[in-house]
Amino acid sequence: LSSSNVNRIQKTHYLADLKKSADTDVCLAGWIHKKKARSDALSITLRDSTGIFEISVRRKSTSPSLMKQLLSATIESTIAIRGRMKDGRFTPTQARILSLAEKKPPINVSTLKTLDSLDYLKERYLMIRHPKMVTILKLQNEICEATREFMRKQKYTEIQAPIIGPATDPGIRGARRVYFDYYGNTRYSLMSSMILYKQMAVCSLERIYAFSPNIRLEPEHSQLTGRHLAEFWQVDIETAFATYEKAMDLAEKLLGYVCKQVKERSPKLLRQLDRDLRLPKIPYKRITYSEAIEILKSLGHDVRFGEEIPWDAEETLSRHFDNPFWITNYPITARGFYYLPNPDSPDLLRDMDLIYPEGYGEAASGGEREYEYQKVLSRIKSSNEDPESYGWYLNMLKYGVPPSAGLGIGLERLTRYICGSKKVWEATPFPKVPGIISP
Ligand code: AMP
Ligand code: MG
Repeated sequence: LSSSNVNRIQKTHYLADLKKSADTDVCLAGWIHKKKARSDALSITLRDSTGIFEISVRRKSTSPSLMKQLLSATIESTIAIRGRMKDGRFTPTQARILSLAEKKPPINVSTLKTLDSLDYLKERYLMIRHPKMVTILKLQNEICEATREFMRKQKYTEIQAPIIGPATDPGIRGARRVYFDYYGNTRYSLMSSMILYKQMAVCSLERIYAFSPNIRLEPEHSQLTGRHLAEFWQVDIETAFATYEKAMDLAEKLLGYVCKQVKERSPKLLRQLDRDLRLPKIPYKRITYSEAIEILKSLGHDVRFGEEIPWDAEETLSRHFDNPFWITNYPITARGFYYLPNPDSPDLLRDMDLIYPEGYGEAASGGEREYEYQKVLSRIKSSNEDPESYGWYLNMLKYGVPPSAGLGIGLERLTRYICGSKKVWEATPFPKVPGIISP
């Protein structure tokens, strides 16, 4: 530390590590979270990625120039403060404002209690500093880490997901895809999901997963659901030669493992969010789509067989259960062409949705895949899609694609569920909410 100097901004300690280091010179660096001037002292609450730390600066034992500098620092300014730490008390000796913030920021992260309002999305650069947001992002990191651990133990290979391609997931219902011109003669799109590529990857690796980015311009009114983003990530899993029952078994264990690890490793973070996360009980209940429709009718919902379950009905159903559960065997009319129909009842698919309890709604969708060239071709045609636009995919199916099953778990929705957040845009650093312009 002797060579360090506040002008060179050698941050020596993160705030959470501070108290342990008694009787040393330290250089702190972070943001002004709160500031309060009293007649005898100035109280500055400093914030960094690890927490907050209140510094009390006594007027009579502080040089006028340092006092003046500290008084001039507005909240959200970035500041480095050098001083002496002794007996858990910090006495500043030198300070440097690295970046002075304008007065009265549109979001005061030290006083704002909830993160769910749409109003603050455009100032995400401030909201991301909110202590609750920091906690959520740290929990999301734990979720990703636990996912990777679990999938590795199951001997799955993580692959890099595609971002663009000439064909993407056709089954995105009301959402629009984003197309762009690829070198003048081919129309490419941003991936709305990597489903078609998962079938390619299992042809060599058999057991794969990826953190895959998805772009779907969902209708503007989906803002109201609190669970739709225009850009999101899936934990996308696919297993060659597996049934949808096996895919469900795997996903149950994965979700169980992730919840358990997060709870064990990060109890403090969950406490900061007041989240009492119940560990899912395995196995999860599996009800058929028809049974789900019956339950919904009995709960007074106007739902019709053959259609996708509307999100408000699904939320009702989700509140009806206290453990995650599956809805299986959707009608063929409700889903994309790549799901395999049931041989005994070809109007129904060998597919499933995973639904969180407590009203959080859909967690994942998946199923067994259609994998034979002729069958896929006729499914594409009967869903009024143009086979031409699935060029490489159809070619691939001529060369030994195995039956497979898998699913995609929305990462932001998983984060929302684990954190107990109201809205999905609280569960990601840079949310793109349908229809809203934001960073
Ligand atoms: P899908 O294949 O459309 O069911 O998408 C797979 C999973 O991704 C869903 O079960 C959700 O968890 C998640 N997901 C789908 N659409 C969105 C969206 N617009 N915003 C956030 N997550 C989504
Ligand atoms: Mg779905």
